[in-house]
Amino acid sequence: MATTLAPHELDTDQALALVDQLGAVFATGRTKSLDWRRAQLNGLIRLLQDHEQELAAALSTDLGKPAMNCFLGEISPPLAEARHALKNLTAWTKKSAAAVPMSFAPAKAWTQPEPKGVVLVVAPWNFPVLLCLAPLANALAAGNAVVIKPSEMAPAVSATLARLLPRYVDPEAVAIVEGGVATTTALLEARFDHILYTGSGRIGRIVLAAAAKHLTPVTLELGGKSPAIVTAEADVKVAARRLAWAKVTAAGQACVAPDYVLVESSVRAAFIEALVNETSAADRFGETTRIIDQRNTARLTGLLDGHGGIEAVSGGPRDNGTFAPVVIVDPDPSSKVMQEEIFGPILPVVEVESLHAAIDFINRREKPLALYLFSSSAAEEQTVLEQTSSGSVGLNHIYYQTMLPELPFGGIGESGMGAYHGKVGFETFSHRKAVLRKPASFDPSFAYPPFSSVMQRMMRWMAR
Ligand code: NAD
Repeated sequence: MATTLAPHELDTDQALALVDQLGAVFATGRTKSLDWRRAQLNGLIRLLQDHEQELAAALSTDLGKPAMNCFLGEISPPLAEARHALKNLTAWTKKSAAAVPMSFAPAKAWTQPEPKGVVLVVAPWNFPVLLCLAPLANALAAGNAVVIKPSEMAPAVSATLARLLPRYVDPEAVAIVEGGVATTTALLEARFDHILYTGSGRIGRIVLAAAAKHLTPVTLELGGKSPAIVTAEADVKVAARRLAWAKVTAAGQACVAPDYVLVESSVRAAFIEALVNETSAADRFGETTRIIDQRNTARLTGLLDGHGGIEAVSGGPRDNGTFAPVVIVDPDPSSKVMQEEIFGPILPVVEVESLHAAIDFINRREKPLALYLFSSSAAEEQTVLEQTSSGSVGLNHIYYQTMLPELPFGGIGESGMGAYHGKVGFETFSHRKAVLRKPASFDPSFAYPPFSSVMQRMMRWMAR
């Protein structure tokens, strides 16, 4: 059975047939065995190792990403996911004992994870290898059959993954379906046992509504405006360098990219001077990632209209499809650049009187996917952690909090629901089944109603 489809749109009948096929494979039970799971994870590892250069070439075609960025951002994290899962699979799949109260004795209780079944992973274009393969590693570790829908906006990566994956993982249990909106729409008609969607909140709502028809649980990995705070206790030069680097890496097209900076008044001038220096010299990072398409280039250019601030660094679209970074100081809070997710190398800087004012600014907006704090003060760190809510927090650096399999990755509120990576990812794609066993050999009549008054008193006493 060949489940890798040619690059054309799938219709609903084909989507339903495909999910049925995978369901039949799942029903055989073979994806549940730990040997099968290990073979898939080892396959993924080999794919990433054997074909790093091919994947980097595809990433260069679609996005112009430099080879080392491909390794760091697209190859290494799913490799880490697969290796971490391999190392921990035995522990994660073990039964976990639950305490049994005296009133239930004699009994044993435990939970045990079981795979959910057939899961769908829908990925966007900005990290097109990572956002297909990291969820895949988690879903396979949990013992599921998987349908992957890579982004049609990164067609070279989509075609490369579609060609390579069936050679490294069980092609009867893992289907990679190329196509665009029509294909995703057709797939969403089918009954999956879990859907993990990465992309915009607008489409996330479509996915959630489609999943509701089947009561399918959903993980939504969305985006939004992730703030960075630079306080008077920060090393402003380091903060400026890290922020400039983060905004040019992948041309700022990262869901956890810092969207805007809130800087405390007392260090505003020093920070802006450092940020201007770092951003003006950002070419030294060797970043060549292009803006994905004309529509997004026009969107970014449109964000520069009417921002109402001062362009401390002026940039914009270049002939080669890249976008020179822009730093906007004191933008109008009601301007588009302060209202919409930027998803590009534009960085607004807003002055705030105090850390308290920064927290207030953030809390009056939707909960972000990431929040960054630059400060050397443990007290400020604690204040921010206690008084704000976000998917993740980076203290004095950017992005690293998303790259560890040991840390869950996910948003809250408008930035998403649910999480994956590592053990949390394994659990996302598993059902934790609750089990209680009592021996049949001990079945006294006093354990059944009507209860004697002594028995009633005893039951109340034991339930205390
Ligand atoms: P998108 O949401 O437009 O597309 C992602 C996927 O959705 C694609 O596979 C596409 O085929 C499918 N899709 C598009 N339109 C659809 C429709 N009408 N019906 C069904 N499926 C449809 O991707 P995007 O918006 O260009 O990606 C950028 C967004 O993704 C940003 O908001 C960014 O913050 C977010 N993002 C989040 C994460 C994360 O992990 N949280 C990672 C990367 C990007």
